[in-house]
Amino acid sequence: MPVYKALLAGLLARLSGRELCRLCQLYPMTHGPVCEGCHTDLPWRRDRVHVQGVAIQVAHHYAWPIDRLIHLHKYQGRLELTPLLADGLRALERPDVDAVLAVPLSDRRLVERGFNQSHELAKVFAHHAQIALWTGVGRRAGMRQQGLSRSERLGNLDDAFALLHPDQPVPARILLIDDVLTTGTTLARLADFLRASGAVHVEAMVVASNQQQGDMPVAKLLAMP
Ligand SMILES: [Zn+2]
Repeated sequence: MPVYKALLAGLLARLSGRELCRLCQLYPMTHGPVCEGCHTDLPWRRDRVHVQGVAIQVAHHYAWPIDRLIHLHKYQGRLELTPLLADGLRALERPDVDAVLAVPLSDRRLVERGFNQSHELAKVFAHHAQIALWTGVGRRAGMRQQGLSRSERLGNLDDAFALLHPDQPVPARILLIDDVLTTGTTLARLADFLRASGAVHVEAMVVASNQQQGDMPVAKLLAMP
């Protein structure tokens, strides 16, 4: 949209008391909580990676301003950013699943943080996609993944998942939701756990990732310069 039109739209929005874009604070919201220009300028990926046998749809590159927004959402409890981050998930291909499950936090971390940022995203996504939200999995406290090297993360077998209601059936097809994909180890381990617990299909969606290669064969890695 031409600049003068956008400025006029912003002015009219201000005068009429309509809410302005959460990112630029200049133009009216047109795409969820952001304006058309900011929405277009987000670091979109909308692609799929395969990590340790799990197909994962990725909305954005982990880059400005999404990286900052995810950080504010997770570590400063800026939950008003949930719709903006969930909007990225809604731009992905709608999966054919029975239930949506957020990657759970350990009880200890849930107490520290007061909320599970991925659960907030899953709630909004499930509501819009009209898919049931499932909260049947808990997580035992393990070492923190943040700050560990890749090999340390892979070797961090200290955390484990558990069914919170073992008498209730596990949904057959499950979509996992997380905010950021780094190594994918947690998602892969959770998918293994769910399949071992009776799920027949598990896939995932994340808001952002810089993960590119996924399951690159070892031979190909060795052949790289
Ligand atoms: Zn904007």
